Amino acid sequence: MDVYSLAWTHDAPLSEVVDQDERNELARALMSRSEDILHLCQRKYVAQAPEMTLEVAARHPMWDIVSVAVKAIADWLETGLGAGAPARQRIDSLGNAAAIDQETAIAGRTPDKSTVGPVLPEQGEGPSGVLSVALVTKLNLWWKDTTCLVLEEEGARLAIGRDTIDAATDMVERSCNSSIVRMAKQYDLELQDLHARLVDLANHDQLTGLANRAVFLARLETAIARIGRHPGGLAVVFIDLDDFKAVNDAFGHSRGDELLTALAERFRDEMRPEDTVARFGGDEFVALFEDLISPAREARALAERLHRVITEPITIAGEPLYITASIGVAVVTDVSYPSEEVLAQADMTMYGVKRTGRNQVAMVELGGELHPAAFAMASELHRALDGDGLSLAYQPAFEAKSGALVGFEALCRWTHPDRGPISPVDFIPIAEESGLMPALGSWVLAEASHQLAAWSEMSDTSLTMAINVSGRQLADPMFSTLVEESLARTGIRPHQVVLEITESILLGEHVNYEAVLARLNEVGVRLSIDDFGTGYSSLAYLRRFPVDQIKVDRGFVQDVAEHGDTRIMGAVVRLAHDLDLEVVAEGVENEAERLIVQLLGCDVMQGFLLGYPLTPQLIEEKFFAGASVG
Ligand code: C2E
Ligand code: MG
Ligand code: MG
Repeated sequence: MDVYSLAWTHDAPLSEVVDQDERNELARALMSRSEDILHLCQRKYVAQAPEMTLEVAARHPMWDIVSVAVKAIADWLETGLGAGAPARQRIDSLGNAAAIDQETAIAGRTPDKSTVGPVLPEQGEGPSGVLSVALVTKLNLWWKDTTCLVLEEEGARLAIGRDTIDAATDMVERSCNSSIVRMAKQYDLELQDLHARLVDLANHDQLTGLANRAVFLARLETAIARIGRHPGGLAVVFIDLDDFKAVNDAFGHSRGDELLTALAERFRDEMRPEDTVARFGGDEFVALFEDLISPAREARALAERLHRVITEPITIAGEPLYITASIGVAVVTDVSYPSEEVLAQADMTMYGVKRTGRNQVAMVELGGELHPAAFAMASELHRALDGDGLSLAYQPAFEAKSGALVGFEALCRWTHPDRGPISPVDFIPIAEESGLMPALGSWVLAEASHQLAAWSEMSDTSLTMAINVSGRQLADPMFSTLVEESLARTGIRPHQVVLEITESILLGEHVNYEAVLARLNEVGVRLSIDDFGTGYSSLAYLRRFPVDQIKVDRGFVQDVAEHGDTRIMGAVVRLAHDLDLEVVAEGVENEAERLIVQLLGCDVMQGFLLGYPLTPQLIEEKFFAGASVG
C-alpha cells in the first residue's frame, strides 16, 4: 500500500521482472478485479466488527485507499514506476488520520475507546471516521492477502509465468510491510510529541507556566538534601494574595487570570534562574530560594522583595490594580525536615499573617528543634485554632492588703481530642516554632478583651485583664495596631489591659522591642514583666522599657516561706516601688506565703490559695453571681 516502497523499484533490477506483455496483461486483470478486492476487504472487516453491516461499512472513506493501492500496483506492473503524487497524498492522509486519531484517543477524547473498528460517520456527516492504528494495520494485511490471492488467481487463469506473478506478489508484500512500518514511525513521532505535552502538563501550571506543586516538592526535597553538603540553608516563601476573590468578583475571572499571569511574570523577573517559583492553584504562589549563606536575613530580604513586587500596581485593561499579599516564610537549615513539613510550616506562617491583619511577611526558622512529634502537634493545634479546640481560663488576682478582686489573668487552654488537656508550657513553644503564634495570640487578645468587656458591665469597680504575650507577637510590627483595634472593638479602656511579657523575651538578643513597647505605652495599655527574677541579675532593663508592673516569680515567694530569709524578696519589692512599679506575687499556695507577700508589701497577689484558673462560667458563678448579664 505504501507508495514509497513502490518507488524502491526504480533501483530494483527490472531485468528480473520479466516479460512486459505478461506484466501488462496481469495489470489489466488486476484492475478488472479491483472491486472484488475491495469487497473481500470489506467482508473481512465486517467479520471482525459484529455490530457492523456491510452496507454501513462500505460507506467509510478508508476503502478508497484500497482502490488507490490496487491501481498503484497495476501501474507499477505496466510502467515499473511508483505511484504518482495524488495517490501518495491520499495514502499519506490516511496514515496521518490514523496517527491523529491515536492522539485523540490517548488524550481521552474518543467517545468509546473500546471500539476496535472505525466509528463510522453518521449519515450526512463529513467523511471523518476514527481510525485506529490496529485497524489500518489490519487493512494493510487484508489488502495484501486479497491482492496476492487475486494476482495468483488471475496469473493462473491467464497462464502468466511464475516469475512475473512472484514479482507482483513480492511487490505487494513489500508495499504492505513498508506501509505498516511507516505508519508505526509516524505513530511513534506523534506519541513522542504527546508525551512531551503530557510531561509539560504534569509539571506546569497551565495558566502561568510556572512549576506546579509536584515539581516544587521534588525540587524542595533535593534542595533540603543539599543543605547537608553545603553551608547555609534555604527558604520557602508561601504567598497568598489578599482578597483575590474580590478582584475576580469585581472584574471577572479572565481579568483575575491576567493578574495572576502578570504576577507570575514579575516573580520570574525577580528570581535567579536557579530559584523555583510555583503556583499551587488559585492565588497561592510558592517560591524556593536555595543556597542562602545567611538564611534568615537573606530569606526575609527576598520575601520582602516579592512582597514589594506584588504591591506595585498592575495595569489590567488600562486600569491600575492594587493588590496585597500575606507571606509566610519557612527558613530551613537542617536536613531532617521532610519537604511536606517545610511547606506546611510556611503555609501556617502565612496563615498567621492572614489572621493578624494580612499584607505582611512573617517568618519561621526550622533549625532542627521541631521534631516530627512536635510537627504533628502543630498541625493539631492549627486545627484546634481553626475550630473551637482552644479556650481561655481566667485566674483572679487580688489586692494584697484588702483581698479585693483586682482582675484576671487569661490563660490559654487546649484540650486535645485524644490526649486531653495539654499545658500551655508545652503548646505555646510549639505555636511559636510553627508560626502559629501570631494567630493564636491575636485570638487570645480578642477573646480576653471581649470577656473583660462583658465582666466590666457586671462589676462596679474597674477590672483588669492580664494577657500573656509571646516574643513572636511582639516582633510583629502590626501588634500594637491589633491591640488598638481590640480596644476599639470592645470599648474597654487601655489601662484595664495588662500585657505580660516574660523577662527572658525582653532580654533576648535578636529583636529590639523598644519601639513596639513605646507604642503600646502610648496607646495606654500596661506592661508587666512576668516570671520576674527567673534568670537575670541585672535590673537595668527596668528603666529602659516603659514597664508598669513586675510579677515576682513563684520561686521567690516559696523560697522565703521555706527558708525564712526575706532579704532578696524585700529588696526586689523596694526597688520596684522606687521605680514606681506595681508588684504582683505569683503562685501563692498557702497561708504562710500569703502572709509573707502581705508583709513584704506586694501590691497584688495571685495563686491557687486565692483562686484557681477557671472557666468563664465558674468565674461568673463565683464573682458575679448577683450581677445581671447583658
Ligand atoms: P504564667 O503567665 O506565669 O502563668 C501562671 C501559671 O502559673 C499558670 O500556668 C497558672 O495556672 C499557674 N499558677 C497560678 N497560680 C499558681 C499556684 O499557686 N501554684 C502553682 N504551682 N501554679 C500556679 P499555666 O496556665 O499552665 O500557664 C503556664 C504559662 O503558659 C504561663 O505562665 C504563660 O507563660 C504561658 N501562657 C498561658 N497562656 C498563654 C497565652 O495565652 N499566651 C502566651 N503567650 N502564653 C501563655
Ligand atoms: Mg502570666
Ligand atoms: Mg508567671
